[in-house]
Amino acid sequence: MTDFPLAPGSTLGILGGGQLGRMLALAAARLGLDCVVLTPDPDSPASRVVKQTFVAPYDDPAALAAFAAACDVVTYEFENVPAQCVDALIALGALVAPGPQALSAAQDRVAEKTFLNGAGAATVAFASIDHWEAIGPAAQGLGYPALLKTRREGYDGKGQIWIEKSGDEAEAFAAIGSRPAILEARADFVRELSVIAARGRDGEIAIYPLGENHHENGVLRRTTAPAPADQATLEQAERIAAQIMAGLDYVGVMGVELFQLADGQLLVNEIAPRVHNSGHWTQDGCAVDQFEQHVRAVAGWPLGSTAVMARVEMLNLLGDEVEAWPRLAADPDSRLHLYGKRETVAGRKMGHVNRMRGPV
Ligand code: AMP
Repeated sequence: MTDFPLAPGSTLGILGGGQLGRMLALAAARLGLDCVVLTPDPDSPASRVVKQTFVAPYDDPAALAAFAAACDVVTYEFENVPAQCVDALIALGALVAPGPQALSAAQDRVAEKTFLNGAGAATVAFASIDHWEAIGPAAQGLGYPALLKTRREGYDGKGQIWIEKSGDEAEAFAAIGSRPAILEARADFVRELSVIAARGRDGEIAIYPLGENHHENGVLRRTTAPAPADQATLEQAERIAAQIMAGLDYVGVMGVELFQLADGQLLVNEIAPRVHNSGHWTQDGCAVDQFEQHVRAVAGWPLGSTAVMARVEMLNLLGDEVEAWPRLAADPDSRLHLYGKRETVAGRKMGHVNRMRGPV
């Protein structure tokens, strides 16, 4: 029986070894907690800062058993962890947070939007698509252009294509791999925002101010925070985050991506049941950042203060942009965060920089 709050010296298990796992582990270390990681990657960004790495596929029964035995609590740093992996860990007696219902809601875009609408969080209108012949009639109802996305495993704008007009259907369906899909009405947004929120084991909630996000080729390029927003917008975002987390009986940090329409309404684009790239600004902008907040939540600690200490512009360092590190390291107004990835690949997230934009 695990007692919460977990005492310093306890072990947090992380499924996934990417940069989010690395930054979670660094935050856990500050609180005196150890981390172990399960990842198929023998040389992951997280593995170089944790106590132990279990290098194995996520469905390896022996590795899952050893990993579960090593952990007081288990979390994950990406949402495409196979559901069977989490089910197996739970069957082994592991405590997994956020729970499996958050994972299944986030893994399938149709289940996600269905859940969101049921929880009182508005989204674009959508249709579930199993065959290209279903696209035309659905697009008639949703209006052109409409966005065809794979139901599962899409990220950073991958696996999605616009249907501009009648006749595009068969080719578009083939382009996303002829897989189960969702067709979404176009959100006519004026800006993209996100809210990073946390819910503790006792249901306590903490919400960070909004970030405003700018994407390039479907990938987050920069976030500015706190985003200017009137009281009604802030309250709307907080209500949405709180309703989603309550609906999932959520424990941990969640990223909620939002579209703001011209009339001020917020639609939820998607939820990430984990720490989120658009929350990296909190590392240098807030009293307690999203990584420590997530560790606090899953470890049953009191949530930390989300108070804003500084305005921040977070810039992702993609591909060879990371080579600017000597200049960024010399800039007194920049805080550099590098992920320790061995190989620079075009477009790959290699690090980020938080540019300090002055007091709030
Ligand atoms: P996603 O992979 O769903 O996060 O989408 C990546 C990006 O595509 C979003 O950040 C938006 O810029 C854009 N996008 C996604 N869905 C829609 C939509 N229904 N209408 C307009 N733009 C969208």
